[in-house]
Amino acid sequence: MQIGLIGYPVKHSISPAFQQAAFDALGLDVRYELWETPAERLSSVIQGLRQEGRLGANVTIPYKQVVLGLLDRVDPLAATIGAVNTIVRRPDGSLEGYNTDVDGFVQAIEADGRMPLQGAQLVLLGAGGAARAVVAGALRAGADAVVICARRLPPATAIVDDLRRGGIANGRGRVRVVALSDGLSVAEALRESQILVNATPVGMDGHGPADTLPVPSDYLHEELLVCDLIYRPPATPLLRAAAAIGARTLNGLPMLVYQGAAAFERWTGRSAPIELMRRKAQEALDV
Ligand code: NAP
Repeated sequence: MQIGLIGYPVKHSISPAFQQAAFDALGLDVRYELWETPAERLSSVIQGLRQEGRLGANVTIPYKQVVLGLLDRVDPLAATIGAVNTIVRRPDGSLEGYNTDVDGFVQAIEADGRMPLQGAQLVLLGAGGAARAVVAGALRAGADAVVICARRLPPATAIVDDLRRGGIANGRGRVRVVALSDGLSVAEALRESQILVNATPVGMDGHGPADTLPVPSDYLHEELLVCDLIYRPPATPLLRAAAAIGARTLNGLPMLVYQGAAAFERWTGRSAPIELMRRKAQEALDV
């Protein structure tokens, strides 16, 4: 059987390293492959998933949104967020879409960050696909407030609108939107928060200057759990600045492993060997 990661580009992904180890450990005859897919081939690659011998796929940048329209069924949570990262092929050849980033984020914060989301206040930087999963996860887990700080406001307000429409942002906690350029408001929101999440690519290897932070370091305080969804490098400038003032830090690796484990469980119906997957992911990143 085959499973693939559909995206463009995908050649640097570490998903094969930890997914293949999990299939092998459970004695499952599955190969996890990289299916680098230019846009003009996306619909034929998705069609190909309907064939015998395919179990499903992961989906990554830039197709998490567009792929929804190519599937037979989309889980309500993934539909509300507007992003699918996991496709499951059913025995009749039909395709179902899920979003496992949501649970991946919640598990990472609660298990590895040792911070309950229930009653928490969060500041979130960014308003892209990952930010959508973060807001949904935080609200579903009972967060009191999420302040989305974005350099462009329309994508951030669209998150609030979509989550309200899907019943996720109704009465479950307050969500507000602040311009990232409004330093006073961002700093004030951070003072009242216990968790900061960076869902922008600022600080990622290969994305701009190596020492940039998505918010000034003097906005941070030592009571914060600072979570960067980036895992390359494992200690981003933001995480280094947070650690320097005594705040707790969490990089994106736990979320990556948990979303992968949740996808594994969707494909196989078996419990994922999470600790093995974590170790293999760390080895693949050389950390
Ligand atoms: P995306 O959809 O492209 O969204 C990126 C967001 O960051 C957008 O809101 C974008 O704003 C903002 N942004 C980009 N450059 C910025 C800058 N210089 N200053 C301020 N904001 C900026 O990407 P994504 O899929 O959400 O991914 C975001 C990050 O999360 C990436 O680093 C990705 O690797 C990471 N991620 C990690 C995991 C995990 O499992 N650990 C899962 C998913 C994603 P504009 O709209 O204005 O461009």
